[in-house]
Amino acid sequence: MLDTPSQLRTDWTREEADAIYNMPFMDLLYRAQTVHREHFDPNQVQRSKLLSIKTGGCAEDCAYCSQSARNGAKLSASKLIEVERVISEAKKAKAGGATRYCMGAAWRSPKDRDMDVLEAMVQGVKDLGMETCMTLGMLEDDQIFRLKQSGLDYYNHNIDTSERYYSEIITTRTFADRIDTLNRVREAGIKVCAGGIVGMGEKQMDRVDMLLALATLKEHPDSVPVNMLIPIADTPLADVEKLDPIEFVRTIALARILMPKSHVRLSAGRTDMTDELQAMCFFAGANSIFVGDTLLTADNPEEDHDSKLFEKLGITAMAVGCDGSK
Ligand code: SF4
Repeated sequence: MLDTPSQLRTDWTREEADAIYNMPFMDLLYRAQTVHREHFDPNQVQRSKLLSIKTGGCAEDCAYCSQSARNGAKLSASKLIEVERVISEAKKAKAGGATRYCMGAAWRSPKDRDMDVLEAMVQGVKDLGMETCMTLGMLEDDQIFRLKQSGLDYYNHNIDTSERYYSEIITTRTFADRIDTLNRVREAGIKVCAGGIVGMGEKQMDRVDMLLALATLKEHPDSVPVNMLIPIADTPLADVEKLDPIEFVRTIALARILMPKSHVRLSAGRTDMTDELQAMCFFAGANSIFVGDTLLTADNPEEDHDSKLFEKLGITAMAVGCDGSK
């Protein structure tokens, strides 16, 4: 079983995923890179830009998040920003080489009164020739329908961690709520972006189970963001022990092997990663990053640094409309 390089399967077992995660590191990297090359140009990385369209004051209690009104982090809440501002920021992102524009709101779920504005944002960014993505929390069916009609390409909804560890991180919604929203978004014909966060004090089996939950959905998510926790002062995870970077690379490699055709996104936490670690993640199959110096409310490497890193590694950015696949 483990000798077969690449299989597009949704019936992976825990034993298989565990065995892959724990392969000798060089064998794991080799296998992940082999799978990656079957489906993607290994020297192309997709660049997305993320904008916070409504910051802070969130009713949810995600332990890692500075935007939760329940956490102690001192972040002032803002209202939904104007459509014009979103469009002008998207234009700048496009000029900087981003092909996908992700708009994130700190909500449990959007209110119906916000839907007209959200639709206008999607249409405006779409008109620029960029791919659109939103992350707004849980959605009702009619909200999903309206977003689809307005041209939304991707919906991001992270499962965050394993089902086992979920209640240690969030108590205001369940793992099943997340899966339910993901399934309904997919059924409506919107592409799914779903991943999680590692380095939250979880066990190795939680990292494996988180990826297994995504890889055994009816269809693999189109994008799989893998975030390294950025510990934020005054949140419950402020002092959590740092994850060994090798474990992080193993997580990326497992995501690539279990979901061969998905874009695996190296997401939050890149500011603390060396160039060498990022290069190893690209080798392990990561082929998407967020660009720009902020990620919602957290720091991200400066675009100049990313461009230099791409140049050093001989990596080129995927063009708009190109997903880098073979
Ligand atoms: S992660 Fe999202 S849902 Fe959770 S508290 Fe932060 S903004 Fe709210």
